[in-house]
Amino acid sequence: MSAKIISGTEIAKQIREELQREAADLKSKHNLVPGLVTILVGEDPASVSYVTAKQKTSKDLGFYSIQDTQPPDITEDKLITLIEQYNRDPKIHGILVQLPLPKHINETRVLYAMDPKKDVDAFHPFNVGKLMIGEADFYPCTPHGIQQLLVRSGVKIEGAEVVVVGRSNIVGKPIAMMLVQKQSGANATVTICHTKTRDMAAHTRTADILIVAAGKPKAVTADMVKEGAVVIDVGVNRIGMTAEGKAKLCGDVDFEGVKEKASAITPVPGGVGPMTITMLMMNTIKAAKVSAGLK
Ligand code: NAP
Repeated sequence: MSAKIISGTEIAKQIREELQREAADLKSKHNLVPGLVTILVGEDPASVSYVTAKQKTSKDLGFYSIQDTQPPDITEDKLITLIEQYNRDPKIHGILVQLPLPKHINETRVLYAMDPKKDVDAFHPFNVGKLMIGEADFYPCTPHGIQQLLVRSGVKIEGAEVVVVGRSNIVGKPIAMMLVQKQSGANATVTICHTKTRDMAAHTRTADILIVAAGKPKAVTADMVKEGAVVIDVGVNRIGMTAEGKAKLCGDVDFEGVKEKASAITPVPGGVGPMTITMLMMNTIKAAKVSAGLK
């Protein structure tokens, strides 16, 4: 058996078309244009490429968008003052600070400075807490993208055994928390594994849905996967260069081996990656609607 490929590229395209229509409706019916600012400190090449892609997508969807690039030596206080300005700017509904920040800046203090209503990455502790109690206004983008991939591919989540490999605050913990909620698109039984898990394979082999966010190539191999499982590979590992001089990417799952055992699997690239930016756009539209008192 060879697994069905869950194409994040295709599903993200479908969602972007829906968002484009929604943005056009907001403009024509309510004179409301979703506004997103992406704040980049310094010139880290990976961060530059991420914010460029976010800006391009937001413009394609008809948003008002600002790219605010700051020098790498900006002080923490100046960065916080800048965020406070955007907190007060009525044309801006979403603020995204591209992480990681330079070492002299305390990321937690920066995240706390953001108005939680404009926190479209959903990293502010207020939004993390709301997610925990099942009352989220925004879902963090990568976990939300994973959930949408599952739901839109018709994967049954309710009652499923879900195993998440990785416990980071941006992927592992929030996706586990989302899928365990007493809500539609959730209601799973969830286990989280990490580097101190005693026998990881014993857990992963029980998974109907296996979500891998370890940041390690081949952290999951075919012998660790149950026959017929759905496998979501979140990992993005750079493993050299292609002939065209682009970074060669692989996930955390041994794709070739696992696809012979799984019933469905996401590729890298073209799986979770395209969904993350799309969910950021969804959050920006939501923030704009909330600010205008629309449901
Ligand atoms: P992270 O902060 O480095 O966390 C990795 C987690 O995996 C940690 O909890 C670590 O355990 C665990 N882990 C690492 N190796 C393991 C192993 N061999 N067995 C079991 N657990 C292991 O990474 P992250 O930010 O969550 O990202 C994970 C991966 O997803 C990265 O490749 C990243 O580039 C990718 N990513 C992709 C997207 C996207 O949009 N496609 C978005 C975000 C992240 P400990 O806690 O014990 O150290």
